[in-house]
Amino acid sequence: MRRGLIYSAIFIISLYGSSFSLSERYSPVDIDSSTVPSEKQESVEKPGLGNPEVHKLQDNVLAITGLYHSSGGGSGTNAGIIFAKNSVIFIDSGMSIASGEFLWKTAQEKMKGNENLYLILTHHHSDHVFGMRVMEEKGAQVIAHKLVEGEFIEMDGEQYKRFLVERSGWSKEQGDLIFGDVVLSQPDVLIEKDTVLNIDGEEVHILVTPGHVPDELSVYHPGSRTLFAGDAIYEGSRLTTRFGGPEEWKLWISHLERFKKLDIATVVPGHGKLCSREEIDRNISYLKEVLAKK
Ligand SMILES: [Zn+2]
Repeated sequence: MRRGLIYSAIFIISLYGSSFSLSERYSPVDIDSSTVPSEKQESVEKPGLGNPEVHKLQDNVLAITGLYHSSGGGSGTNAGIIFAKNSVIFIDSGMSIASGEFLWKTAQEKMKGNENLYLILTHHHSDHVFGMRVMEEKGAQVIAHKLVEGEFIEMDGEQYKRFLVERSGWSKEQGDLIFGDVVLSQPDVLIEKDTVLNIDGEEVHILVTPGHVPDELSVYHPGSRTLFAGDAIYEGSRLTTRFGGPEEWKLWISHLERFKKLDIATVVPGHGKLCSREEIDRNISYLKEVLAKK
């Protein structure tokens, strides 16, 4: 029922080309094994919030950087919000309920209150999806790669959270305090190939860009020339390549090359500061170095 609804609300107008799917298994976590709760993160006002900064890229486009990440010290997790005439589109939901609530509160400042809500998940990793319950409870339609569905069936929010808490050496209470009451819901719309959504006249291009993980999506908003790259691009740090091997890294490079053909004013990377298209070349060079060492 719900899945049918979105097709009346949005109109999928075109496809870019073929999609890729990889069958390799990969670990459902995107943090270092050395992860410990960092003093810096714990000392912030609200556990699980991090130090978020809101950047107005255009009147109707926000990028949020520096949301909580359990690896501490780094630059946190990023997300985005696009406002259409009668809709709000969230891109990723942060690593905690506190992050999801922050995104919701930020959006509300510009909302009338009766908008259609969408949440696009760039991939299934905890640092991008743990806040999703907040948008889901407000009625958001969740859009994600088809493979995300399998990941969420395999590992629900509680299990995934417990896995991270144990791996980080935290107590259950500490985990509850930081992550909050995480619930992962199955996506309403599954993406398998590049797709253009037209939401109240606002074009949102969903690009299938595997490499970091097989279910990676990136979001290009031509109206503001913004690329919300998810973890296809990191700013200022090394890409996390351990979920794949040479084949996936080559695929990753091909998608980064594809980004270079887009008209981009701002790149919102999955992690790090807002950047420009030059960062794409840095990411390509890094992946080529990793490949050369293999
Ligand atoms: Zn990430």
